[in-house]
Amino acid sequence: MNSIRNDFPILSKTIYGKYPLIYLDNGATTQKPLCVLDAMREEYLNVNANVHRGVHYLSQQATDLHEAARERVRQFIGASSTNEIVFTRGTTESINLVASSFVEAYMKEGDEVIVSVMEHHSNIVPWQLQARRKGIVVKVIPMSDDGILDLEALETLISERTRLISVTHVSNVLGTVNPVKEIVSKAHRHGIPCMIDGAQSAPHMKIDVQDIDCDFYAFSGHKMYGPTGIGVLYGKEKYLEEMPPYQGGGEMIGTVSFEETTFADLPFKFEAGTPDYVATHGLRAAIDYMEAIGLEAIEAHERELTRYALEQMQTIPGMRIFGPLNADNRDAVISFLVGDIHHLDMGTLLDRLGIAVRTGHHCAEPLMQRLGINGTVRASFALYNTKEEIDSLVSGIKRVAAMF
Ligand code: PMP
Repeated sequence: MNSIRNDFPILSKTIYGKYPLIYLDNGATTQKPLCVLDAMREEYLNVNANVHRGVHYLSQQATDLHEAARERVRQFIGASSTNEIVFTRGTTESINLVASSFVEAYMKEGDEVIVSVMEHHSNIVPWQLQARRKGIVVKVIPMSDDGILDLEALETLISERTRLISVTHVSNVLGTVNPVKEIVSKAHRHGIPCMIDGAQSAPHMKIDVQDIDCDFYAFSGHKMYGPTGIGVLYGKEKYLEEMPPYQGGGEMIGTVSFEETTFADLPFKFEAGTPDYVATHGLRAAIDYMEAIGLEAIEAHERELTRYALEQMQTIPGMRIFGPLNADNRDAVISFLVGDIHHLDMGTLLDRLGIAVRTGHHCAEPLMQRLGINGTVRASFALYNTKEEIDSLVSGIKRVAAMF
């Protein structure tokens, strides 16, 4: 653990000049190990040139690095071809791409997409925009009070107008790990494709898109120790082939004339403009880093942290934890409230003790409405967090609670 923490110099920071940083806001973004920063610096220092278009040495080297990153992502999520790996700016852009191009290709007014009540806004609003533009209908899978999706209700929501089901793998508020394989197979039994929002699962567990058999899977580099501004859309080739481009511009074309333009082959058809080829190289370094530690080891460590945190936090009087209380069924995210202390007060006072947590609705306002609250405090863990940090969180919460 010491050597892992040394890979992240920011973790040694002192906050307000006296408290060691306890960074528990990993669901929002993770810190970056030196190897990611070094990889990006090295590329800017020694390789930098625009990719794909150049015949010169540097451009070819940069292109090789960029495409090697695509191959690394393909292996990481178990896709069968790099044609199925589209680089985007992040989960949000990946979902917007599908919402725009899938709806264009396969949906007409009155057709339905099903999401769940625990979605992040980025898996709600893109569909609502399409509802306004194209008249599609958005239906919502409900959940139980302890944050488990109601799959029987899903059966009743599916109709002959359902064209896509899009759900999150892991809730960024409740930590619930949804049974995505079961949801996908249910959807496929009705001939409906399925999109998975993997923003909160790719950083924490081994993903195999062929095993899940999802038709689309989206995730963000910055939540898994990689740089900001880069993410991935995995899509099955048969859908990506049929879907129209998302944006137009350079890189995504075959030939262009004012009379007729043709589009590039996959995956470039969906990658208009200069890609962030330095960030893709950084993402590759982040994947190398995670795999060197081992996804199973990361998952086991974070599960143990979550189990320990759930156990310790429940000893605090007035503690209310949202989502499943069984660590086997949840990921490294714990949202909570204590008594009637406002989440913002709790978060602000924990910050004064050097503890970084997130407060508010976590971009999941419909979920807050379902829970009958307007926000929570959220602690979320990463591979570098320790039980000692959880002890500090627990004593910090007790200290704040005592002030009220
Ligand atoms: N979905 C979920 C479940 C998330 O937690 C997040 C980030 N909080 C997103 C989507 C959006 O990710 P990004 O902002 O990196 O596009």
